[in-house]
Amino acid sequence: MEASKALVPKEDIRKLLDGEKLEHCFECGICTASCSIADLLGKDYNPRNLLEKIFLNPDAVLASYEPWLCAWCYRCYKRCPQGLKLPEIFLYMRTAAVKNAFTQPLEIAFEKIVDNIPLSIVTTLVCFHPERAGLEIKKILDMIEHIRIEHLKKLKKKKTVKSSGEKIAVIGSGPAGLTVASELARKGHKITIFEAFSEPGGMLRKCIPEYRLPKWVLAKEIQFIEDLGVEIKTGVKVGEDVNFDDLRKGNYRAIFIGTGANKSQAFKIEGGDLEGVIHAIEFLWNANYKEKVKVGKDVVVIGGGNVAMDTAKTALRLNADKVTILYRRSKEEMPAIPWEVKEAENEGVKIEFLVAPKKILGKNGKVSAVECVRIQLGEPDESGRRKPTPIEGSEFTRETDMVILAIGEIPDLGFLPKEIELNEDNTVWVNPITMETSVEGIFAGGDAVTGPATIIEAIRAGKRAAESIENYVKSLAR
Ligand SMILES: Cc1cc2nc3c(=O)[nH]c(=O)nc-3n(C[C@H](O)[C@H](O)[C@H](O)COP(=O)(O)OP(=O)(O)OC[C@H]3O[C@@H](n4cnc5c(N)ncnc54)[C@H](O)[C@@H]3O)c2cc1C
Repeated sequence: MEASKALVPKEDIRKLLDGEKLEHCFECGICTASCSIADLLGKDYNPRNLLEKIFLNPDAVLASYEPWLCAWCYRCYKRCPQGLKLPEIFLYMRTAAVKNAFTQPLEIAFEKIVDNIPLSIVTTLVCFHPERAGLEIKKILDMIEHIRIEHLKKLKKKKTVKSSGEKIAVIGSGPAGLTVASELARKGHKITIFEAFSEPGGMLRKCIPEYRLPKWVLAKEIQFIEDLGVEIKTGVKVGEDVNFDDLRKGNYRAIFIGTGANKSQAFKIEGGDLEGVIHAIEFLWNANYKEKVKVGKDVVVIGGGNVAMDTAKTALRLNADKVTILYRRSKEEMPAIPWEVKEAENEGVKIEFLVAPKKILGKNGKVSAVECVRIQLGEPDESGRRKPTPIEGSEFTRETDMVILAIGEIPDLGFLPKEIELNEDNTVWVNPITMETSVEGIFAGGDAVTGPATIIEAIRAGKRAAESIENYVKSLAR
């Protein structure tokens, strides 16, 4: 009898999944411990076990929901001592599943996402990316919307939650704050979010480009959270419109700080104040809000993270003729997710590696060029990446009419009282298990604690904090 043909050729798996590396994987658990989805879904998702299943029986994995649950944060790969590239293997499996018409597993994955992850439509678009396996976005959104409606019907059938009467304040309406609010509102608590900006959503609203996350999708998600009874006070900046201590003196049982990392990192460079030099956050914010945004014809973006990729792609969409990213390390060291880099290059963004700016030159107060220097990489520095060292005499000048600095963001925590301890890098110190700060009853999570990270990590932190706040509030009632 003829053996049935494998859906996933063994050679492909061998090429993708370095058997030797897998054999030497001593199951340290770092990949699974780093994975926000594994934390959010518990025993339903374990990236390390999934790898082994793919190696042993790839065809069986095609019929499973598991490869659809990777949220592309790349933490597993970045921390894996063997350098196993899990996300790329999962993407291969997804594509093979679509090719072989296995759509049922995707539906199960969506059910798990809706059951466990607030902002399920946003995360599907911006984190899970099922479309990367070749599926149509509209179909995906319809499918997840249908699952959520069914989920809501089930929730409504359950007994309504009795109000606890406990008031909790949340500062910031990004994914961390919205998660805390949504989780605690479901427990019957009365939640008020204080948001500095005129509209809720945090970075999702302010900076993630419209072409990746349409504003109507976000509005729908936020409405869903408001329908749970959450009050969102926009245009209220804690530290300016209301003091942190006033919140403490109010009748709030607990406070959650989810103020993100919204301030551009200072970058001292000669010519940094010329007209035509702008920080990426400000540029993306303008692009999301202003009808007319001034963009140069020949744009230079400095940086190598995801924000640099979004900035470059947005500049192209706003009709720049040419966009070049300058990055001081090599492609392998880039903090941006490889997929985002590939997409930017496919769209026409040029990336010059091993190049750093020395100064920005101007004519009549306006930017006209960047003086650059070529870089060589030395031994790994404290970040574990090879240290960039300028090559003497390699300076060159590159003409440009706009420079966008995408060199990182930091939290702006000047509004916090001194007793709330900060880390050396100006993030909020928390107990990593409970997310409680150094002050009892005050919790924090998301980018304000980790520095710039990802949506799924902010949601994970929000869920942890919500659980701890619930325990804390219960302990006060005893
Ligand atoms: C351009 C860009 C693209 C990104 N793309 C992705 C992506 O594709 N995938 C991904 O996973 N992640 C992405 N991220 C990262 C992601 O957006 C963040 O990790 C996430 O939003 C962090 O959530 P957060 O709730 O901690 O903070 P934020 O989303 O930053 O929200 C904090 C909120 O607090 C408010 N606030 C600040 N100070 C105060 C105050 N004193 N009083 C009241 N309110 C205050 C702010 O206005 C803001 O609304 C991107 C980030 C940027 C900038």
